[in-house]
Amino acid sequence: MSIQWFPGHMNSARRKAAESMEKVDMVIEVVDARLPQASCNPMIEQLRNARQRPCLKILNKTDMADPVATQAWIDYYNSQKGVTAVALSCKKPSDVARVPKLAMQVAPHRGTALKPLRMMIMGIPNVGKSTLMNALLKKRVAAVGDEPAVTKTQQRLYLGNNMVLTDTPGMLWPKIEHPSDGLMLAASHAVGSNALIEEEVATFLADLLLQRYPQLLKARYGFNTDGMDGVAVVEGVAAKRGFRLKGGEYDFEKAAHTFLQDYRSGALGRISLETPQSRAELLATYRST
Ligand code: GDP
Repeated sequence: MSIQWFPGHMNSARRKAAESMEKVDMVIEVVDARLPQASCNPMIEQLRNARQRPCLKILNKTDMADPVATQAWIDYYNSQKGVTAVALSCKKPSDVARVPKLAMQVAPHRGTALKPLRMMIMGIPNVGKSTLMNALLKKRVAAVGDEPAVTKTQQRLYLGNNMVLTDTPGMLWPKIEHPSDGLMLAASHAVGSNALIEEEVATFLADLLLQRYPQLLKARYGFNTDGMDGVAVVEGVAAKRGFRLKGGEYDFEKAAHTFLQDYRSGALGRISLETPQSRAELLATYRST
């Protein structure tokens, strides 16, 4: 995959994240509800545990995720020590309005004018940290999109009198532990998108949807998915949309792009790429090989 994770970067990111964490009482960790484990960086959890910082884990973009899978993830995370998990859509003002109260509940020992609750938002790129921050502060303080890891001079941004946020979300690059994590991230966030990768990612996504959401493929493209594999799905999209090259064969590249767009825009429906059960199965496969 196109995401590279060099040891030097990792150490410097870890040091910055550790320094930032020293100065806060709790962490608001944002992940993508459609792929909560593939879109988290395990370093955040390690640092939280080492420094005993409680965490409000926001499964964001829940408007795009499968509600049944999301509920399973919420139960899974809420059983972890020091974690309170909630599913939100940070694009919805009423969802963001719940965050300050939830944060207070996570760290009840702070939150007065004398001892304001100090918080930082952390997560990998594109999970919605800037969207959350902007909505919390009700003004545009962070550019929505990719941005550098952590600013050198941290400012403090007050939310009312008794809560304070560090000025830049703490960003850690995804640590891709399994190839399927990279493919899930690429499907959801257009990471390092180019034609070759898009074709691989679209085929991976099609295989996954055949297993988990064949009815959504049927509803969108009118397929009878019996006996189909991922390649056949992408070819089927080309056939349905009339994507052909000059020689008459299917334009696989264009169909792959369209298929990914249909998933990313939500046109295919509400989809989760992993569940606690599928994650456990994945880990079991790696352990046994
Ligand atoms: P950051 O890199 O973590 O700061 O992520 P951004 O805030 O820049 O968001 C990345 C993309 O996700 C943007 O296109 C946002 O509009 C989109 N986004 C953020 N929150 C949500 C959400 O709750 N639902 C949906 N559908 N999209 C969201």
